[in-house]
Parts: sequence; C-alpha cells; structure tokens
Amino acid sequence: MAAITLTAPMQGWAMPVADVPDAVFSDRMLGDGVAIDPTGDMLVAPYDGVILSLLDSGHAITLRTPEGVEILVHIGLDTVALEGRGFTPCVAVGDHVAAGTRLIRFDLDLLVREARAVVTPIIVLNSDAFTITQCVTGRMVAIGEPLLTLEPRIADQPAEIVDIEAGETHSLTITVPLPHGIHARPAARIATLAKRHDAAITIGCGDKTSDARSPIGLLALGVRCNDTITVSAQGPGSVEAATAIATLIGSGMDEPAEAPSKTGAAPAPSQPRPLPAGALAGVTAAPGLAIGQAHWFRQPEIEVPEHGEGIAVEEARFAQAVATLTDRLTAQAARAAGPERAIVEAHTALLGDPALRDATGALIAAGNSAGHAWRHAIRPLADALRAGSDPRLAERADDMLDLERQLLALIVGVDLAPPVFPPDTILLADDLLPSHVLALDRATITGLCVARGGPTSHVAILAATMGLPALVAIGDALAGVRDGAMLVLDASDGFVRIDPDADTVAAAQVQLVKATVRRAEALARAGEPCRMADGTRIEAFANLGSVGDARLAVDNGAEGSGLLRTEFLFLERDAAPDIAEQTAEYQAIADTLGGRPLIVRLLDIGGDKPAPYLPMAAEENPALGLRGIRVGLAHPTLLEGQVRAILAVAPLGQCRIMVPMIASLGELRAVRAVVDRVAAELGLADPVALGVMIETPAAAVTADLIAAEADFLSVGTNDLTQYALAMDRGNPAVAAGIDGLHPAVLRLIAQTCEGGRRHGRWTGVCGGLASDLLAIPILIGLGVTELSSAPTMIPEVKALVATLTMEACRTHATAALACQSAAAVRTLAREFHA
Ligand code: PEP
Ligand code: MG
Repeated sequence: MAAITLTAPMQGWAMPVADVPDAVFSDRMLGDGVAIDPTGDMLVAPYDGVILSLLDSGHAITLRTPEGVEILVHIGLDTVALEGRGFTPCVAVGDHVAAGTRLIRFDLDLLVREARAVVTPIIVLNSDAFTITQCVTGRMVAIGEPLLTLEPRIADQPAEIVDIEAGETHSLTITVPLPHGIHARPAARIATLAKRHDAAITIGCGDKTSDARSPIGLLALGVRCNDTITVSAQGPGSVEAATAIATLIGSGMDEPAEAPSKTGAAPAPSQPRPLPAGALAGVTAAPGLAIGQAHWFRQPEIEVPEHGEGIAVEEARFAQAVATLTDRLTAQAARAAGPERAIVEAHTALLGDPALRDATGALIAAGNSAGHAWRHAIRPLADALRAGSDPRLAERADDMLDLERQLLALIVGVDLAPPVFPPDTILLADDLLPSHVLALDRATITGLCVARGGPTSHVAILAATMGLPALVAIGDALAGVRDGAMLVLDASDGFVRIDPDADTVAAAQVQLVKATVRRAEALARAGEPCRMADGTRIEAFANLGSVGDARLAVDNGAEGSGLLRTEFLFLERDAAPDIAEQTAEYQAIADTLGGRPLIVRLLDIGGDKPAPYLPMAAEENPALGLRGIRVGLAHPTLLEGQVRAILAVAPLGQCRIMVPMIASLGELRAVRAVVDRVAAELGLADPVALGVMIETPAAAVTADLIAAEADFLSVGTNDLTQYALAMDRGNPAVAAGIDGLHPAVLRLIAQTCEGGRRHGRWTGVCGGLASDLLAIPILIGLGVTELSSAPTMIPEVKALVATLTMEACRTHATAALACQSAAAVRTLAREFHA
C-alpha cells in the first residue's frame, strides 16, 4: 500500500502532539498524531473517508479512510464541557466525505473564552497499523496543506490471534457518574485498562455495543452522564475484568464536576479544616485580617472586530499600541520597586517577544484586525500555560491575559481605569490580573478574595508586598457571595466569614485594633537591636530581591540580609548579566544596607524557573531536577562569574556566599574550590564565608557533616517543607497541607541546629517560617539564632523576640517536636503566644 498523506484539516499552528497539555494526547494513549492550534473556524476532512462517530457535543469526530486509517480530530481540550455550544456539525455519522469537505464549524472566539485550550489533536487511532513517517510541525499551516504522511506497518510477525476461550460471561450494570459521559479522555483510559485484561470486554449502552479496547467505539456509544451501561467480560479473568472497568467508570475517573471556566478549575483547598459556620476556606496568599463589605470586581471581555480594515492600517494600529504600552510599562517600572518592578518588567519583556509579534503580524496579514490578531496570538500561549501540569506556570498565564487586555484596550480605545470602590471594600473576583492589583486604591480596599489563582502567583506576591490580606483558590462557592455582604477575612487562617453575627464582627474589630497598635509600637522600636527578654542575641535579618527591598528592610530595622535572591537579575532576559552588571547590582544593595551583612545566595534557577539562555532539557519533575547549585555546577562559567561578581563588592567581607539546594557535601566542596580559586586570583587574603542552605532532607540529616566544612547553615523552610512532605510548594491543590510547622520539618530543623552546634556554626532560617510569628519561638527553641524574614515583618519579629526567654522557647520546642501534626503544633503555638 502506498504512503497516505493527510492534509491539514484546519488552519493554524502545527505542533507536536507531545506538546498538547493533556496526557491522553501527549502520552499517545489514543494513538500518534499531530496538533493544530487553530486560527480559523472550520474543520474539514483531512482525507477521503466515512464518518464513524460524531459526538452529540460536536467537538470531536472520527473518520476512516478507504485504506483503513482511523482518524480522530478533537477540537480543543475539555470542550465536551461546552455541551455543543460553539460547534455546528456539517456532516452526520455514515456520511462519505472527500478531503476538504466541511466537517464542523466552530466558534473560535467562544472556545478561546470558555475552553481549557483550543489546541486540536489529530490522532491516528490505529497507530498500531500505520506509522507516521512525516509530520509538519512548528509552523502555520493552511487548510489542505500536507500535514501527516503515513505508511502501513509491515507486520514482522503474524498478528497475535487472541483466542478467547469461551467461558463464563460476567456482566455488571452501572449508572455512569461522569459529568460529560464517556468522551475522549475517559474512553482512552477505559481502553488502556481493558487492554491489560485477557478477557474480551464490551460496553453496551442502549442498543449499541463497543469493544472496551476501542476508544473510537466507546466514543460512538455516545454515553452521557447518568446513562445506564453494561460492562460484560468473557473469557479468562472475566470477573476481575468487568469489575475493574466498572469500578474505574464508577469512580468518576477524576472528571471535573463542572464545566471548566476559561481560567481553569479552581483548586479546592485540599485539607478539610474546621471552618467557622458560614465561612469559606481558601489558600493564604497574603496573611492578615480585614473587615469590610464585599464588592465584586468584574470586567467584561473587550470586544474586537474579527476583520481588519486593511493590512497597513491594522499593522500601524498594532505598532502604535505596542509603542504606547511599552512606554507606559517602562515608566511604571521606573516608579516601582521590588516585586512590582520585576512584574512590570516581565510584562515589558513579554510585549517585546518576537514570536508573539510575528504571530500577530501573520494573522494581520491574513486579513484579521489588529485586536483579533493580538488576542489569537497571545491567548493560545496563556491557554497552554494554564492547561499544563505546572501550577506555577499556569499562574503565569495571568500575565499573558493581563497583557492581552492592556494592549487590546489601547487598540480599540477602551478606558481600563479601575472601578472606584467605597472605603472598607473587600474585593471579590473570579480571577485577578497583576495590573488589576497594581491599580487598586489601597485607601479603600482592605482585602482580596479570589475564587481561582494560586499562592505563588504574581497577584499573591503583589498583595503580600502591599500588605493586603488575600485569600485565593476559594473556588466556585465565592460566586454565592452577594455585593454588599459583610465579610470578616482571616487570610492568615485561610477563611472568610460571610455576614457574621455582630459579636464576631466586634471581636474581629478588637483584634484588628490590637494588631494595628502592636504594629505601630513595633515599628517605633524597630531600630533597637534584636534581643530576647533574657538578653540572648538573635539576628533579625531580611530577605531581599532588589535595592528597593533593601531600602524597605533598613526602614523596618533589618540588621542585615540573610538571603539575597539573585535570580531576579537572571530571569526573564535573553542573556545572563555580565560580571560588571552583577557587581553593580550587588554593590547597590550592599550600599543600601549601609555596611550590614549581606548573604548573597548563588543562583537558584532551573527546573520551573528556566532561563532561556541556559540550554536545559525540559524535565518531567523539575523540582527534583537540575536546579539550585546543580545548575551552577553544570554551567561552571555562570558559577564562577557570579562568585567573581560577589567578591568584587566592597568592602570585602560585607558579602557572604550561600549555596542553594545542597544535597551532599561533595557539592559544597566543589563550590568551595571555585570560591578559593577566584579569591586567590583576585589576591584576597581573608577567607570568604561560605554557607549552605538546608533545603533538602538529605542536607538536614547530614548537617553535622556539612557543618564541618560550611561557615553557617540557613534553613530554607519553603523547599525543606516541600521535599519533606512530598508536596509541591507551587501547587494550589496541596497548598493547604504545606505547613513548615509539620513535626517532620521541625525534626529536620532540630537535626540541622544540632549538626551546626557540633562544629560551632550558627543556624539561621530564611524560608517562610522566619516570617511566621507562631513559628519563631519554636525555631529559637530548636537553636536558630538568625531569622531572615520579609522586610515588613521585621518590626514584629523583633518585638516578639523581645518577649521570649530561651528557657521557655526550649520547653515549647520540645513539646512541638512531640506533636502528631502541623495542626497540633499550631494549636500549641497559639496557646504559647496567648
Ligand atoms: C526556601 O526554600 O525556603 C528559600 C528561602 O528559598 P526559595 O524560597 O527562594 O526557594
Ligand atoms: Mg529554596
């Protein structure tokens, strides 16, 4: 049989199927193929054939060519949830079609707005019979262009004939609980499971029956939610086989209960916790307490015309809008500091992305308006980020949507002035974009409650920087809160009370006044040295990311910096900063600290924080991959350059060097060798202090070995917690369970302090626990003598430390180590605090 060439059934960007953000397709569970990110609104037949199935919801179709190739085209991801909206089939099952025949018209704008993603996999379902020999990817394709070339596989051995012994048939009848019935994803999983059994398994629904191994057959059954189906198995292991399939379907197969919104399903807080009556739980994005009235923040989608007024006109419109927005963002960045500046600069960099501009230009050249072109160039990228498995990247989709909106507003001339809210507003939103938060009037907004989002999003970082109590990932229940409802937001404890009784409001008001007074008093005494009530010295340092942070830290009484995150200089740019640029930046921070110690952490990028100029392969498990010092050791020039830059800062000795993500002593020795060599080359006589971040359980339990060669230890409780509890710190789905006060983490910190003590080395904490007032007495009791906290927390950290005695802290820490859970430790800590 000759090669068969399938043509592109839609126009758009062709990409490898492995890049489709859904394992059913990327793992080729249904077969091999390709994907297209569509830019048009029509699906046509890629080849002559007969229509085998067309789901009622109109989003997926299968056809068989005369040569027997079975092809599935699935328009968008999770589009089954649209229940037919946006799809107009032009053919019916059984129709014979020629290549190019219109199959389904779809509303791309609606899909862009409401579907998880619009990327469309085109899959050869019987890939066991046909091999893909050529595949076009990585460029725009037009309808009818050659896309995939297939050749029949040459059977190198006779097909295995499975002779199912006639035997007992076992049947089970169940009601299908899957909200969207058996669509592509469940069909793939059922077929995969069925293939693991020897018995012949069929699924019957009404008068139709399908082999459970055939996804196409299962799709053709058209099974909907609550339909009754019969799972029958015949032959060896029939009972197990039927039970396994029925159990899988009956389990709900992790299908989302409701249609995913355009922003992705909100992760529900994973841990049930005792909630006050009438309260909604969420994940803390920025701690604090707020009382106020609910006001919804809703901004309608900006309407754009599809067709342009001529290529030159639209190109000019686009260029003008880009220039205006670039100027605006540049000015905004110049006025900003810290995270705000970094975020605005990231937006500017995105706006200048040549790939995005080229994609927009191509769409304008195809006759689209500038606005339509921009939306359809940037939205698929945001969709792909949201749909991916990395929650941190998903949160970065907000930045793309933000940019989409800001530029569209300029193109079509819409005023994006933020709505004005009355004083004491707690803002409710389905989702918020970073620019929304930046535009909020802090005088009127006292808190944020967001249905979606995640705790590490830019929105969360901005809220924390602004000191705005914020709860994210509250879920769809937030939609039930009406405008004007009275709210008490306890973002520290992760809940918001709706219309609480007068006593609750009064109690919260008292708490708020006390907190304000406490903070004012602490700020007034922030310049005093940090000492315990018994005179023991504790260093109150600050975590920094920029010169602006350093200024804030000094204003808040920081006695130094226990962690300078140098990543800010290296990320979101095309090339690594050179030594001179690094030195200038570190020097500016050192100068701002006015001689106070500055602990500079070597670069902690890699994994989920990739730098485009570092050739690093994509990793399946970035948190366990090439990150932290592993990157430095893999790129010696980068490491050496950074060490040189740090050692050039004057006065010598103000900067100490800290190594992130150490898992074994060998890594420290390798860095020490680089530092010693560079110091010798620079003719430095005094030894350079080199410390280690304790972020892996391996480093914590071998702290005694590490401390023998490190000058100090500093516990990164954010990473130590994620690795000890095996919970991704960036995943909102497990966010509620990630608590550094878990006894397992505390025991690792205790071991670290003990290891340091044995060699006379100090142990600090620079992770989030050092900013958690409940944790601080325990940390001190375990032996921590340096706390590096968020700059704005320092006055309260110092004030708290001044009330503590070492003896009381030690007794308290011993009790905490014996607790059975993080919740029990928190209860104990609250009692201690009280
Ligand atoms: C930590 O892991 O606790 C830490 C301080 O490092 P980062 O948060 O930058 O990973
Ligand atoms: Mg870390």
